[in-house]
Amino acid sequence: MLYYSTNGKASKADLQKAVVKGLAEDRGLYMPEMIHQLPKAFFEDMPKMKFQDIAFNVASAFFGDDVDLDALQDLVYDTLQFPCPIVKVKDNIYSLELFHGPTLAFKDVGARFMARLLQYFLRKGSVGCCDTATHKTVNVLVATSGDTGSAVANGFLGVEGIHVYVLYPKGKVSPIQECQFTTLGKNITAIEVDGVFDDCQALVKSAFMDAELNEHMMLTSANSINVARFLPQAFYYFNAVAQIIAQGQKPEDIVICVPSGNFGNICAALFGHQMGMPVKRFIAANNANDIFYNYLQTGQYNPKPSKQTLANAMDVGDPSNFARIINLYSENGKLTPEETHKRITSLISGTTYSDEQIKETMRQCYKETGYILDPHGACGYQALVESLKPGEVGVFCETAHPAKFKEKVDDILGIDVAIPERLAAFMKGQKQSVPMTKEFADFKAYLLKQ
Ligand SMILES: *Cc1c(COP(=O)(O)O)cnc(C)c1O
Repeated sequence: MLYYSTNGKASKADLQKAVVKGLAEDRGLYMPEMIHQLPKAFFEDMPKMKFQDIAFNVASAFFGDDVDLDALQDLVYDTLQFPCPIVKVKDNIYSLELFHGPTLAFKDVGARFMARLLQYFLRKGSVGCCDTATHKTVNVLVATSGDTGSAVANGFLGVEGIHVYVLYPKGKVSPIQECQFTTLGKNITAIEVDGVFDDCQALVKSAFMDAELNEHMMLTSANSINVARFLPQAFYYFNAVAQIIAQGQKPEDIVICVPSGNFGNICAALFGHQMGMPVKRFIAANNANDIFYNYLQTGQYNPKPSKQTLANAMDVGDPSNFARIINLYSENGKLTPEETHKRITSLISGTTYSDEQIKETMRQCYKETGYILDPHGACGYQALVESLKPGEVGVFCETAHPAKFKEKVDDILGIDVAIPERLAAFMKGQKQSVPMTKEFADFKAYLLKQ
């Protein structure tokens, strides 16, 4: 399968190049040329199938042309060693718990899948777009507003031939998040940038475009712009839909609600829908960063500097995957912006919540049901509470374990959230990071010395 760029100026890439390069030469995002419909028989069997087998079917549709099926099956099974269960919170609202992986957040799925896929290509000695004779190490650059960094760092930890640089905004990630990527050592370097998340993202994007740097070292991205990171997130949506159907609900009543920042997670759900996954509609739940919400209301996309909120992994002022959503529903630019907007708003609605509303939602939900929401999941839950119509069944992603935001959650709910053992282990480590300004020249000079 070939991948084209959303900007339409770069040449098409095969999977390997799309994964290693991350971003196309014209700074566009890679899109699969075809989105295969899964067969009717698969959807009929789905409610009876295991998570890994559902995922393997989905993975084959995307990656089956480019990865040996045996290897792909291993890869999928290795990625999904933890469950992504749906848990009933109340009435017709279910939490899709995506926090049972190594760093207790949903990005573990895509990060691990990408690490294994890159390793597969390296082992085959076929990183063809890049000169592996002069560059022995693949360097992964990742900008994080909190959870991406830990997921990528842990997914790639100890993978031979790969070095990871995690760029994060100083003082803007929680202490628990920070220790998950600053204490690992080995092939993981944490870089503490004096700026906000968008500055980190800009540094990473500039590095990929810099000819001299690319000459010096082989660079690749692991943000949700990477097809190997965002597509595997479709796995758990199919599984959630299968479980809801298995409980006797009708697929045409299912509403999926995704707390969104860079829109990689919801994008995977939308790709799933294009493959035939039966869902009635989607909701993108936002915190005070309301750029997508405003697009839905007005048809205008106006990126803004990100605002710091309680749900900090969603503090994004210019969501990368917006370009993918537009490209998908405009059929690669065939439809006008008005037609595209109409298609999008007929399938996806949006909400935006202030920190006060997030806190109130967490308190209300805890009081009413005993379920502990994290600030991100709270946006998703509240969007369902406000918008579900009679007969609909809502599934929101609980994108992180509440203990990842322990200080906030304890404070808001007046409780003492238990810290899972995996998390406690990170907190015992020694923090190590490289201080950096937000100037590209400084970041470049640092990388040139590596
Ligand atoms: C990354 C993240 C999000 C936002 O996901 P996107 O794919 O960037 O939209 C939401 N919640 C948590 C906990 C996250 O880590």
